[in-house]
Amino acid sequence: MIKKADLVIIGGGVVGCSVAYNLAKLGAKNIILLEKNTLASGSTGRCGAGIRQQFGTKMNCILARESIKIFENLSQELEYDIELNQGGYLILAYTEKEVNQFKKNVALEQSLNIKARFITVEEAKEIVPPLNTEGILAATFCPTDGHANPFKTNFAYAEAAERLGVKIYTFTEVKEIETENHKIVAVNTDKGKLLTPMVVNAAGGYSGIIGKMVGVDIPVYSQRHQILITEPIDPLFRPMLMSFSRNFYGQQTPHGSIIMGFGDPNERKDGDIGSSWQFAQEMAQKMTAVLPLLKEVSMVRQWAGLYNMSPDAQPILGEHPQIEGFYMALGFSGHGFMLAPITSKLIAELILKRKTSLPIDKLDIGRFERGELIIEPSVV
Ligand SMILES: Cc1cc2nc3c(=O)[nH]c(=O)nc-3n(C[C@H](O)[C@H](O)[C@H](O)COP(=O)(O)OP(=O)(O)OC[C@H]3O[C@@H](n4cnc5c(N)ncnc54)[C@H](O)[C@@H]3O)c2cc1C
Repeated sequence: MIKKADLVIIGGGVVGCSVAYNLAKLGAKNIILLEKNTLASGSTGRCGAGIRQQFGTKMNCILARESIKIFENLSQELEYDIELNQGGYLILAYTEKEVNQFKKNVALEQSLNIKARFITVEEAKEIVPPLNTEGILAATFCPTDGHANPFKTNFAYAEAAERLGVKIYTFTEVKEIETENHKIVAVNTDKGKLLTPMVVNAAGGYSGIIGKMVGVDIPVYSQRHQILITEPIDPLFRPMLMSFSRNFYGQQTPHGSIIMGFGDPNERKDGDIGSSWQFAQEMAQKMTAVLPLLKEVSMVRQWAGLYNMSPDAQPILGEHPQIEGFYMALGFSGHGFMLAPITSKLIAELILKRKTSLPIDKLDIGRFERGELIIEPSVV
């Protein structure tokens, strides 16, 4: 293993690999990425891989819109088919409160040139013919939203980064980070010591632990989030189907399986990523209620991953004010896959002291102390 680097990235998920790629693309040299397991073994390889621009905060709308622009050309840019499917996101409103919130969301989205629209139940049924419309009051639809293959996206970024000179070491765990006078000086791994003045914490659900290694408390926690997949069936629906109040999302992958999940506020926060039968049962009830045809379809596998939650469900981006050279790209909550392309570009620009393509100062860690949280209402 090389003993010295200009910058070390901790985490081989989509965030770490895309940060590595964007840094190298901007000309940075001597970058090392360390991953304790295999690439995509964390939340990225476990996620629903939905990509949507339909949010309730301007910040998330803009980040997601810019991310989609990158996603649209990503297969060509990285020379790897990431299986982008822009079949839209159909978000169902079951309550008056949601109807009101969605009207506000769509007005905001349209003001930002996002192609979302507020639609009737009949229009929703045209988009997803097998939809059970019982209880649905209205919906929103954005045709340029969609989903991609999270493994392929993760590997695409990693391979492109390697082609630009980044060294990736898998099965290499960071155990300690050394600082002197509040500056990063070295990273100790289970394979040896690496001298470096800069670290990017892209450790997803483990980013709080990495923070403790430099003696800082990052206000994030990691919560289990479960998900399952069915056997492949003939094409049934194209968009990601979602409801916040009924709490579910589901999409059909290109090979026909349906991936579905929901967020349980009572889920464990102890790092456990085992699966529960209660989840499978509740998930089946939710999805067969909205797509009754699924009653005939077998579930083949379930798994779980970690949502790395920040207090306002927005990422924390930037250098830690107390530790020089300690950068954070974490706290992505339930939308780190979709935001990775743009946020990694912004972080790379920030690290290289360039003008960032979009302002990201409001997403610094200091916002929590300043009481300037940007609460996102539209999340599962
Ligand atoms: C079930 C589920 C569904 C989701 N659905 C969506 C969705 O539809 N759309 C969306 O945008 N997002 C979704 N998310 C969220 C998304 O998966 C994450 O926000 C995103 O993948 C975070 O990427 P990451 O690279 O930061 O983290 P990860 O992919 O978790 O990568 C972090 C890596 O760091 C490594 N690591 C940790 N500690 C160390 C160490 N000490 N040394 C070396 N390596 C270390 C880990 O092994 C891991 O591979 C979902 C998440 C889950 C769990």
